[in-house]
Amino acid sequence: MTGLALDETHAASLASWVESANDPATDFPIQNLPFGRFRTAADEPWRIGVAIGDQVLDLESVGLIDSQDMNRLMAAGAASRRALRLALSRGLRRGSEAHSPFAAGLRAQSDIEMGLPCRIGDYTDFYTGIHHATTVGKLFRPDNPLMPNYKWVPIGYHGRASSVGVSGHSFHRPLGQTKHADEAAPALGACRRLDYELELGAFVAVPNALGEAVSIGDAEEHLFGLALFNDWSARDIQAWEYQPLGPFLSKNFASTLSPWIVTLEALQPFRAAFTRPEGDPQPLPYLDSPANRAHGAFDIELEVWLQTPAMRAAGNSGVRLSRSNFRDAYWTLAQLVAHHTVNGCNLQSGDLFGSGTLSGPLADQGGSLLELSQGGKRPLQLSNGEVRSFLEDGDRVILRGHCERPGFRRIGFGECAGTVLPAPRGD
Ligand code: CA
Repeated sequence: MTGLALDETHAASLASWVESANDPATDFPIQNLPFGRFRTAADEPWRIGVAIGDQVLDLESVGLIDSQDMNRLMAAGAASRRALRLALSRGLRRGSEAHSPFAAGLRAQSDIEMGLPCRIGDYTDFYTGIHHATTVGKLFRPDNPLMPNYKWVPIGYHGRASSVGVSGHSFHRPLGQTKHADEAAPALGACRRLDYELELGAFVAVPNALGEAVSIGDAEEHLFGLALFNDWSARDIQAWEYQPLGPFLSKNFASTLSPWIVTLEALQPFRAAFTRPEGDPQPLPYLDSPANRAHGAFDIELEVWLQTPAMRAAGNSGVRLSRSNFRDAYWTLAQLVAHHTVNGCNLQSGDLFGSGTLSGPLADQGGSLLELSQGGKRPLQLSNGEVRSFLEDGDRVILRGHCERPGFRRIGFGECAGTVLPAPRGD
């Protein structure tokens, strides 16, 4: 594990000649430098760029990469990523001699289209939000909310990569098989309990060979960075299908990623200690290390916003439904990599891990409507007078995230937005 590796790129005093990057409110100051893929026209190939203020820097145009293959850049590993970050920081900071070529490689973010950041070969969704697991478990099993394995095994399931979309997209309310307790037989119909899940997505950088486990000490070298991730969930379909093998069609109709990957380097100042509540079991040795305990967690503030069609019509940008923090996750990123590979499973560059729903410890910090409305029993009163138990057609859910710490520049993740369209048959 790399530890608290701070260098000149993290200095809070750094400013950029891209003036919008010096706005205290921007998510993309020169200390962030997240990676994404963009194009300027629909018939053009995707290009790798780095966000700086309200601009994106085309990396190939300034000679910093020789390929537009993000998965290849990910596979190159942490040392070359750190060198690239240093070159970007030096070229974009005030007084840089590279000002002119870099300025020629800038595009306004308002003029480009963002795509998925890479080819996602496989997607695994974990379940590290213990407050989510406990609250949801209580709804189904009041006496036994957490399964006995939860505090020993980083629980996860294999999701579907083909339906992961990028922020700004919309998708149809899914059809599926549901069965209500008072009905004799299930029926096919439109989901009536559509929900979001507030998650972070982690991207695999360096692959590991089939049969070769990654130790917890090496685990973070196999990760690239984090983005916001919404794991849309059809709760009524899920309730009927999830036993005994877990979620299937209730999850794989759509997921949304934010377009910018904030690298582990940018997140260094915002590391936090990994601790376990008193009385909880300590991790097994393959999931434990002094470095993981000292700074294996990350302090990332997360928010969920909802914009209903009525709000949109009124020019209202939405209301915040909840806040939480990645620090409260039960497992660290390094533990997820070590666990995923302990059986020899091979991870590939660009693979995506979902963190699981990141809820806070308090009732109003739920990372899903299932929690906030207590399974639909207590509808949320929105500030404009509307009410929601679950999502309605036209609703737009927006995830946001940022890191803040005294002595360092605030960095953010941008937005992860998706909009619900009516079910294909309108029923
Ligand atoms: Ca999930």
